[in-house]
Amino acid sequence: MAKIGINIATGSLQQAEMIVGIDLGTTNSLVAIIHPETKKPLALKEHNSSCLVPSVVHFDSFGNATVGEEAKKYLETDPANTIFSAKRLMGKSYNDIKQNASFFTYKVIDNDDEKLVKVQVGKQFFSPIDLSSFILKELKARAEHILKTPVTKAVITVPAYFNDAQRQATRDAGKLAGLDVMRIVNEPTAAALAYGLGLDKESEKTIAVYDLGGGTFDISILKITNGIFEVLSTNGDTYLGGDDFDRTIVEYWMNEFGITNDELHQNKELSQGLRLRAEEAKKHLSFNDIFSVEFNGDNLSISKNKFEELIQPLIAKTLDCCNNALKDAKLDVSEIETVVMVGGSTRVPLVKKFVSELFNQPVHDEVNPDEVVALGAAIQADILAGNNKEFLLLDITPLSLGIETMGGLMDVLIARNSKIPTKVGRQYTTQKDGQGSMRISVYQGERDLVKDNRKLAEFNLTGIPGMPAGLPKVEVSFLINADGILVVKAKELRSEVEQSIEVRPQYGLTDEEVEKMLLESITHAKDDIAIRALVEAKTEGEQILEMTEKFLTKNSSIINKDELIATAQAMQNLQLALTMNDKNLIQTKIEELNEITRPFAERAMDAAVSGALKGKTI
Ligand code: ADP
Ligand code: MG
Repeated sequence: MAKIGINIATGSLQQAEMIVGIDLGTTNSLVAIIHPETKKPLALKEHNSSCLVPSVVHFDSFGNATVGEEAKKYLETDPANTIFSAKRLMGKSYNDIKQNASFFTYKVIDNDDEKLVKVQVGKQFFSPIDLSSFILKELKARAEHILKTPVTKAVITVPAYFNDAQRQATRDAGKLAGLDVMRIVNEPTAAALAYGLGLDKESEKTIAVYDLGGGTFDISILKITNGIFEVLSTNGDTYLGGDDFDRTIVEYWMNEFGITNDELHQNKELSQGLRLRAEEAKKHLSFNDIFSVEFNGDNLSISKNKFEELIQPLIAKTLDCCNNALKDAKLDVSEIETVVMVGGSTRVPLVKKFVSELFNQPVHDEVNPDEVVALGAAIQADILAGNNKEFLLLDITPLSLGIETMGGLMDVLIARNSKIPTKVGRQYTTQKDGQGSMRISVYQGERDLVKDNRKLAEFNLTGIPGMPAGLPKVEVSFLINADGILVVKAKELRSEVEQSIEVRPQYGLTDEEVEKMLLESITHAKDDIAIRALVEAKTEGEQILEMTEKFLTKNSSIINKDELIATAQAMQNLQLALTMNDKNLIQTKIEELNEITRPFAERAMDAAVSGALKGKTI
């Protein structure tokens, strides 16, 4: 039975510690809980204020951080020290964000393209993880203030396309903020939960979750069966959201007032000022036909019609993504039974109209689109707290995962689109006698040769006791946990020597890269098969040469001179064939060598058997 305590300081009843749900958004973040009495999800807020905490961090001249609405005010007056959209930088290198660099009005370090980005504020440097942890700390403090109890456990949501590195970074940010992150959950899954989808265990449903936030667009096709959530496909755009709607309005006004790009870049206050007015206009136009405001002595105005004309291409892009997601899930649009709208930008009437036209049905927007993800996270937290044990969440891996084997071949352990969590093990062995260590290189991708895939990690299993080649049994296991983080283990089963790593790639793949890798795997499929066959033949040839040599030195007594010469000749022929890229030739030479050595092997066996018999006394 759960213990209930009384907080002496406040007199309030304390349940066993609550796990909160957190939507750590690009634009806005918030915390939700399951209300202990009503058992309903609830977004936490102080009296008379919004539950949304803008994901903005401002640093004063002493380096002290403020977060949220207070910090957002500085976007105009102190842009260099005011960090917004930090989530877009999570797990990214400067290379990844280069073409959007002008979007950031603060200093993103650009002197190393490959490394993870940092943000410079005055003399201080912050990683996106640091910046996210400031936001999480603020959310934690707010929740504690409202609930009057310590909050140390949370479920945090991430976009479905976040890769391992980005999920890990989110987890680390939680840790830095003093939160024990119980689970990382995909935003669309959380949204579905908030709509109560899947909570009715009898039903089976295929749904689409359309999430247009401030900085990201995400479409997910989920299948819910017996309370199990399965992501059939995801698609989206990491650089498409309400911010881009704002930008079209800014550009429209720039045109109207003859403001050049250079002027805008040099005058950060002007750019931020226009950005904020544009956002105001956009929100206003969700419910009105015309917007106008005084700014620096000018009248900024825009009509709903004009706005809709401006954003039409952006919405069209999201519809393309929807169609791609349907294609990936191998579903016809008519098979989608429910469409759920998520994210503040889905308040724009034209967005709802287009999405409902595409899916041929009215869309669901009853739950507040700003809160829906956090509410779902709270429901998930409640499930984790043990109040709803029957539920399980399943997601998928976007690319295959495997290790490098002989000849640089990719040996896939977990195939693309596998459900997670998952665990797969496979046995390998050594190539050389007395080999004391084995290198395990982990790759991600669809190509047959590892050099065409992406290396995620590498480690050595050392301390394998000396044994003849082929005898050690090294079991390599891949475990992807429910957060989508991969743990690779290698264990020599005879000696129990073991090694493992958690795979945290330097930085992850963008959607485009994943797509490119998939495309390449299709284009090169034929070449890959041919190359794989060649590499396999070469490997086999090398192994047979080695084995034959070993055999000859051990068993010279049972082989006559002619046989020895014939064998040497066949070995030489095979050796030569190995230098040529001709699979058939290699296989012929392997066969020829086998023909010659087969009788020796039989003889050697007989000798061994009779030797064994000789030693026995009856
Ligand atoms: P994120 O998930 O990226 O943090 P949100 O779901 O909080 O984002 O959505 C934020 C976006 O929603 C912002 O671009 C904001 O301007 C936009 N937004 C909020 N309310 C409205 C509205 N009434 N009409 C149009 N856009 C809105
Ligand atoms: Mg969001």
